[in-house]
Amino acid sequence: MGITAIFPGTFDPIHYGHIDIANRGTAIFDNLIVAVYDRPLKSLLFSPEERLSFVRAVFENQPKITVTGYSGLTVDFCQQVGAKVILRGLRVFSDFEHEFRMALANHRLSPEIDVVALVTREQHTFLSSTTVREIALLGGNVSSMVPPVVEAALKRKFHELGDGQTVVPMTALRD
Ligand code: ADP
Repeated sequence: MGITAIFPGTFDPIHYGHIDIANRGTAIFDNLIVAVYDRPLKSLLFSPEERLSFVRAVFENQPKITVTGYSGLTVDFCQQVGAKVILRGLRVFSDFEHEFRMALANHRLSPEIDVVALVTREQHTFLSSTTVREIALLGGNVSSMVPPVVEAALKRKFHELGDGQTVVPMTALRD
């Protein structure tokens, strides 16, 4: 049994900053569920199925990690899977404010669930899914930021969407 935590996120797409938080989470918790949220209040590049497939590919050889999609409230999902901890990552002060508000809201909804936030590694401080999408859209090299499966998918996606003339949904409330 042991302690189960969930690491929820949009993962549009998953990058090395997320992967580092998940891997460090496995050193703290007995089981980690990486949970891909299907419909956040922000514009997405990849579908829930695509985002889930990248996350699955990344963690397929990680015995302590299970990958699943979810919809609805994160705290309800925690209850469904018996998780007592929500794992999140922190990069900059603006992350802190957002995570702090969300943790308080989640605590109001489900006081028995705690949030544990890990501070990013220095080399991932600047890394966000928005930055990755933007660099890839403009033809930049994202191989140091995302695993090969994601890099290939970004190339395919922007090829399908056109040569940059197409308006690609890029805005995020926060990323
Ligand atoms: P959400 O829409 O839930 O914020 P994201 O996929 O953007 O989903 O992020 C999921 C989690 O990963 C969040 O806690 C976010 O702060 C964290 N995260 C994102 N990028 C990094 C990074 N470079 N280093 C550490 N944590 C990160």
